[in-house]
Amino acid sequence: MYENDTIAAISTPLGEGGIGIVKISGSNAKSIIKKIFKPSSARDKLFSIPKKLYHGFVVDRQGREIDEVLAVFMPAPYTYTKEDVVEINCHSGIFALRAVLELVLNNGARLAEPGEFTKRAFINGRIDLSQAEAVINIIKARSEEAVKTAAQVMKGELSRKIEKIQTMIIDIRAPIEAMLDYPEEYDEQKPDLKQVKKLISAVRDEIYELLKGVENNRAYQEGVSVAILGKPNVGKSSLLNALLRQQKAIVHEKPGTTRDILEGFMSMGGYPIRLLDTAGIEGTSDPVEIEGISRSRAAAAEAALIIYVIDGSSVWDADDDIASMISQSKGLVVVINKVDLPRVVEENRVREKYTNAAVVNTSALESIGIKELEEAVAKQLDDIMGNKNESSIIVSIRHEQILNEVMETIEGIINILGKEPWEIVSTELQYARSLLGNILGKTLDDSLLDKIFSEFCLGK
Ligand code: GDP
Repeated sequence: MYENDTIAAISTPLGEGGIGIVKISGSNAKSIIKKIFKPSSARDKLFSIPKKLYHGFVVDRQGREIDEVLAVFMPAPYTYTKEDVVEINCHSGIFALRAVLELVLNNGARLAEPGEFTKRAFINGRIDLSQAEAVINIIKARSEEAVKTAAQVMKGELSRKIEKIQTMIIDIRAPIEAMLDYPEEYDEQKPDLKQVKKLISAVRDEIYELLKGVENNRAYQEGVSVAILGKPNVGKSSLLNALLRQQKAIVHEKPGTTRDILEGFMSMGGYPIRLLDTAGIEGTSDPVEIEGISRSRAAAAEAALIIYVIDGSSVWDADDDIASMISQSKGLVVVINKVDLPRVVEENRVREKYTNAAVVNTSALESIGIKELEEAVAKQLDDIMGNKNESSIIVSIRHEQILNEVMETIEGIINILGKEPWEIVSTELQYARSLLGNILGKTLDDSLLDKIFSEFCLGK
């Protein structure tokens, strides 16, 4: 249960740094600071002016000076927690900070739980749950990109989008509900099935847009996976090495089988790439090779893009095995390798077979065409990933799970339109809307709230 008592904590990271802040929030904040603060000059009434920094000393009951401080009083509701807040800027390191905190606690405050300041901001309606979670993410964020995304959510961008989708759903439901409530009046004009379908599809598109960037986020964290496929001896490993040499990247072997998959990390056109060199693919009965092939298949299925390597100096027959893997891939670059040798494979034949692919001529041995290969990969990724600056504003797995569930519900509704009664359509729409409400935390139970806020560190 939430109690409106006064809480306090050290709200700066503990360390050797000079200044630290003790933060107090709640209705007793002002009376507490007045009890423990001795001003350096007594020109105006203590803490009578909001947001003014008062210089002085924190003193204990015996009047001993604990630390020289600057203290400020910020009245509700224009504070982080929407409660009265006092901040005491202490100067003398961790021991003084702790001593000041202890004095505050002895004078009527309780030690804040992790995340409790933010929890109060949420409970008092200053931020919604998605924003509160973004605070966690900002605190934890390691990369600049992640900080940027979390900051967007904190500013309420995700909340605005979610609310927009909720409103769209309400607008779809309203005429359906009206018809269900007043069937006589609506006998003549039922909601137009086509129109409803169009509106629901628009909802689906909005959710899709939100989810789309999630993959981009993941790609930025883990690297976009690109698989190199081709028959044995066409030069896959040599090509990987040529790419890596240029990039000074790291390669390691994925353990597990004799035909291991090599993995390298590099950047192409600004994309972090996880390059997978797979086992050669060819019809075989050797169990080890079969295992290698199945791993290649898995790598190909996982990859955002496939680099399919052909030996340009040997006869090329369209590899059926490979063709089937390629057909599942989003992007394809075909490499005609070994162009330093007399050419056997005609480029036109390759282009005819793979009309949507980029075709690049290389020599891994003599480092010809490697730059062109990188450019072709980057260009295809531009198309696959959309605008690469457009990362998702979804920062938590919880949001992603909810949105996936909403997506499923919405697709389900589209499928039953015209087949099931309008009551069911309306109920399902309401369900989708309430799911979205979970992102904003409007309909959550206390245990989930506790779990979310407990991820915070102290003093936030
Ligand atoms: P993989 O089995 O597809 O990984 O092929 P490898 O990279 O192991 O190469 C097979 C053989 O082809 C090796 O002897 C390489 O030196 C050779 N090779 C690879 N790329 C080229 C190239 O561009 N030109 C020539 N002449 N030989 C190459």
